Amino acid sequence: MKTYATLIILFNTLFLAGQSSKDPAIVDYFTDNGFGAAVKTMQHPAGEYYKGVTYVCFQGPLEDAWVAAYNHATNKWSGPFKAGVSKLGKTPGDKIDNHGKPAMIIDNEGYIHIVFGGHGGMPEHGPNTLGNTHKGDMIHVVSQKPQDISRWEVLDNIPPFGTYNQFVKMDNGDIYLFYRHGAHRSNWVYQKSTNNGRSFEQEVSILKHKIQDDNPGIHDSWYCWFTKGQGEEIIMTYNYHVCKDLNHDGERQNCYYMVMNTNDYTWRNVKGEVLTVPVTKAHADKMTLVVDTENKWTTRGTVRLDQAGNPHLTYNEGEHMGLKHGGPRQVKYYRWTGQMWDGGYDTNLPVSAVGDILISSPTEVNLLLDGRGEVAWWHTTNGGQSFTKGEVLIRQEKTNFAITSWLRNAHPNARVVAVGKIGSSDFRKMYLLGDEGPVKRLKAEADKLDD
Ligand code: ZN
Repeated sequence: MKTYATLIILFNTLFLAGQSSKDPAIVDYFTDNGFGAAVKTMQHPAGEYYKGVTYVCFQGPLEDAWVAAYNHATNKWSGPFKAGVSKLGKTPGDKIDNHGKPAMIIDNEGYIHIVFGGHGGMPEHGPNTLGNTHKGDMIHVVSQKPQDISRWEVLDNIPPFGTYNQFVKMDNGDIYLFYRHGAHRSNWVYQKSTNNGRSFEQEVSILKHKIQDDNPGIHDSWYCWFTKGQGEEIIMTYNYHVCKDLNHDGERQNCYYMVMNTNDYTWRNVKGEVLTVPVTKAHADKMTLVVDTENKWTTRGTVRLDQAGNPHLTYNEGEHMGLKHGGPRQVKYYRWTGQMWDGGYDTNLPVSAVGDILISSPTEVNLLLDGRGEVAWWHTTNGGQSFTKGEVLIRQEKTNFAITSWLRNAHPNARVVAVGKIGSSDFRKMYLLGDEGPVKRLKAEADKLDD
């Protein structure tokens, strides 16, 4: 214990002095028990900065939901603790499902909520009136005490059918839980809570799954990403999945954008024109298209607003090259100028990288992107016509990094969680990255798998 205490003092001294340490007792990662694709931009926020502490969640062993916390004043980590048990990941030999990653929101009383474990629900859950089913069970857990990640309880107040769970909390404390209500052939919905997540109102469909009128072998399907906009607004970007009966593959096309006013629950396009919800493919193509990528495949990205309230977004675009899930995809950036979508320029942004957007001004924008060997900033000062690489937050040649979108209310020193894949192990080191690089931890604490 004495050595341990000494180490903590040494660690804090080094850290507070702002020195980098080569001490092998101090590591870049906060835990080594991330599992599979432990985090992604999709399931978000993956954490939140709240009253001096950054709380983070990730997919741990057996695809369960795990939570850790970092106190910025004391430089002390706590956890990770298991917050909830998933129905996914429990069959030995099965491929890691990876769809039930956790998302987090902290309510106005300081309780921490995690939703996780869903990949569309199962037939045994009964009929899914808004789509089809596949696996898992979307589960909601809450911390037993405010700001305490050590003990959790299940709140049985959401449907089992969800996947791609995402939270948006408004300034008045209302919590919106967005998700796809089932497997591929399901509506995207939200449920609203006005009592700190203790109950949720009925699902409201916003994007409609549908068999194509002139091609019954194809089902319209969607991938969406939501976040808070200005004031009472919620914004979203999405792409279209061509869900085929025959030769099903990962074909996804186009990029779309729309906005909800939470005062009257109306949806509008970027021009302010009112939409008919749930939005169908035909309506989306007519009213909400950012770009028609034609024969190119896309992966949905993230969207943020500049100070004028104009959206800036990214997505990835590439050829399918006969591959089931497509080939390498270039990062594409677009912004709404007030009159038009400007962007899509050929740039030197890294291929197949994913990340989030920090906007300085309508034409000065910073992307934090993950990839092979590093997580780095990319800056544009000409509205996306070209980008230059900036600061590298972490670099490890042999590690494949994947990052979350911004943590909610993120501290500059703790903007995203990253998972690092190295070698063939299913277990992953997890990182908390910000402007000072990774938030370090004592190796003895971070090496959770040895416990
Ligand atoms: Zn499909």
